[in-house]
Amino acid sequence: MDGFEPNTGVIVLAATNRPEVLDRALLRPGRFDRMVVVDAPDVDGREAILKIHVRNKTLAPEVDLRRIAQETPGFSGADLANLLNEAALLAARRKAQQIGQRDLEEAVEKVVAGPERKSRRLTHEDKVRVAYHEVGHALVAYYTPGSDPVHKISIVPRGRAALGYTLQIPEGDQYLINRSELLGRICGLLGGRAAEEVIFQEVSTGAENDLERATQMARRMICAYGMSDKIGLAHFASRTTSPWLGPNGDGEFSDRDFSEETAKLIDEEVRRILADSLNSAKQILNDHRMELDAVAQTLLKSETLDAKAFLALIKDKTST
Ligand code: ZN
Repeated sequence: MDGFEPNTGVIVLAATNRPEVLDRALLRPGRFDRMVVVDAPDVDGREAILKIHVRNKTLAPEVDLRRIAQETPGFSGADLANLLNEAALLAARRKAQQIGQRDLEEAVEKVVAGPERKSRRLTHEDKVRVAYHEVGHALVAYYTPGSDPVHKISIVPRGRAALGYTLQIPEGDQYLINRSELLGRICGLLGGRAAEEVIFQEVSTGAENDLERATQMARRMICAYGMSDKIGLAHFASRTTSPWLGPNGDGEFSDRDFSEETAKLIDEEVRRILADSLNSAKQILNDHRMELDAVAQTLLKSETLDAKAFLALIKDKTST
């Protein structure tokens, strides 16, 4: 960085994803001394970015970009550009002249969950299991305060692994999550497994990803957020990735700098949180067994349910 005179008018711009590993000398006044943090865009930002990328695309008059912005928390500018490309491809495939709201919604799903796999045929038995599993997620989320609203339930296989999925979309950008919300999310993640236990008294391999995510969340509550009374406030999570990367700052747990005894306590606490959450999920499903059956049967027939259809089925059952 030497050799620039103050009067030469040269401005040097640089970008990095890892500001915390930069040599301090680089950041001294006269070198890179201004830092502009470019975070993932919030809902207004996403709407503005969508508007930029639709400039050379033809949209149907009913298209509501605000709605798409609300459905895409955590998306970067590149993700949004990709989303619009996917929507254009979908519109072209159905030989439409304009991109419609449905193309955009389908593109959101495609980006989040992967493309539809029409060739993957499930046996009827497996389909029933997947339907109950997904409705388990949706119902537990619905009856757990603080959960993100259910946007769609589907038993159409998508992507590499998912045989079905429940899409929950937060109502707004959330920057802080409290303890009961985290517990609620763990409960929702275990809703699929809970439904399998309640309905079939037999579990399947279908919950692997749910269990992985729930365990990770429970561990973070204990080790990183100081949310366990037994373990206390000590921070046992050493971040190996940057807190700047991703909205959740997904640090990994690698170097262990605590005692064998603490490790045991942490394991016990993780197990307790997961067991308690599974129990409350099963309780919810047992209490709402009629709705579980009704929604699962409808889902088997229609393969996908949007939020409106899901809520209508629940309201129908709770009022009678
Ligand atoms: Zn699941």
